[in-house]
Amino acid sequence: MKRYSAFAIAREALRGHKGWERAWASPEPRATYDVVIIGAGGHGLATAYYLGKNHGVKNVAILEKGWLGGGNTGRNTTIIRSNYLQDASAAIYEKSRSLYETLSQDLNYNVMFSPRGVMMLAQTEHEVRGYRRTAHANALQGVSTEFIGPQRVKELCPIICLDGPRYPVLGALWQPRGGTARHDAVAWGYARACSDMGMHVIQKCEVTGVRTEGGKVTGVTTTKGDIGCGKLGIVVAGHSGVVADMAGFRLPVESVALQALVSEPIKPCMDVVVMANTVHGYMSQSDKGEMVIGGGADGYNNYNQRGSFHHIEETVRALVETFPMISRLKMLRQWGGIVDMTGDRSPILSKTPVEGVFLNCGWGTGGFKAIPGSGWAMAELMAKGASPLAAEFGLERFREGRFIDESVAAGVAH
Ligand SMILES: Cc1cc2nc3c(=O)[nH]c(=O)nc-3n(C[C@H](O)[C@H](O)[C@H](O)COP(=O)(O)OP(=O)(O)OC[C@H]3O[C@@H](n4cnc5c(N)ncnc54)[C@H](O)[C@@H]3O)c2cc1C
Repeated sequence: MKRYSAFAIAREALRGHKGWERAWASPEPRATYDVVIIGAGGHGLATAYYLGKNHGVKNVAILEKGWLGGGNTGRNTTIIRSNYLQDASAAIYEKSRSLYETLSQDLNYNVMFSPRGVMMLAQTEHEVRGYRRTAHANALQGVSTEFIGPQRVKELCPIICLDGPRYPVLGALWQPRGGTARHDAVAWGYARACSDMGMHVIQKCEVTGVRTEGGKVTGVTTTKGDIGCGKLGIVVAGHSGVVADMAGFRLPVESVALQALVSEPIKPCMDVVVMANTVHGYMSQSDKGEMVIGGGADGYNNYNQRGSFHHIEETVRALVETFPMISRLKMLRQWGGIVDMTGDRSPILSKTPVEGVFLNCGWGTGGFKAIPGSGWAMAELMAKGASPLAAEFGLERFREGRFIDESVAAGVAH
């Protein structure tokens, strides 16, 4: 594969852009692979990438029922941060955030990581106490965050109204090296790098069954025929319960639609990411100028991958109090994705009751930020049978009552 560079851009500009190669191949599946990953979202692709890069496992296929990155990875609002409360969470999210810092160089693909800073507003006394506690925990974990007062909030984000009638801004948990990245580019960059290592990214290939023999995985049944494998990774986010059912076990996960919307593009007015968890909305400005607004999850389990009007109304009504200027914006698009929620709001990176089948799910409303770290840990787990970053996130914690409670840091927000 030719590397992307400033020189290549200049050369192609001079010859009418006729020399670019396809970013990734679209092969037909082989009869068997060492490893099959179900799901070409960010987590599935990153798992495959680090299997090849860190462990030399390259006979890998990533099977995707739609198009790569077409699930939650291509539908999310791209907030990246690592200010979680529990040690195990801070470790994997901070690993991920730090990998994002150099991901463009690593993949030779511009993922547009923008460490513009993320603030989580404290709008009740309860949140002030909670975020101060998180800032102290983060200091012990080596994650750089601080609790800032309202005046600093206003300096960092002048369009905020500090003294809203119901929920005045009392401060914020501020992570200066949090930010955003371009969601499609993350999926495309990993896919290109996987394809370059000789891995097969196979789109429009839905897995419809998991084949086992004597309690061990032997392969999968797909809409493109049977495919054998030595190890299988289930990395399908909101559809984890469906695929686990094919393998014969149940998961402690619920699937719900989570929604977001964007406004018409406007001039730059906000260069940080703001999350307002009490009023239940969050916002950043995209490079195109659109205000990217995240809302809530549906209050019932479902597989409806689309938006609904009452969410626009609820989210915008809530945000207008803190950002009065958005009352004059036209909204452009809305959409939904199916997220996989665990009871403790922490992910599952685990072996399963079927030998050779591994599971990566439960990232819920906040897994975009975790893509590089999760892929790193999942690859290690699949290659070596254990990973320090994944150790606390096994399925057995739900049986043993060892929850990793991140309901404050994750909740339904991001
Ligand atoms: C509206 C919204 C906003 C969000 N905002 C943020 C945010 O700001 N920050 C953040 O960190 N996270 C956010 N998230 C969460 C984040 O998007 C997800 O946690 C993350 O993208 C999950 O990635 P994934 O690779 O596990 O799943 P996905 O990207 O959903 O990939 C799974 C893939 O599996 C495929 N698949 C499913 N079943 C099969 C099958 N049987 N055979 C083959 N393929 C199959 C699907 O088609 C899909 O492409 C948001 C999510 C949504 C919906």
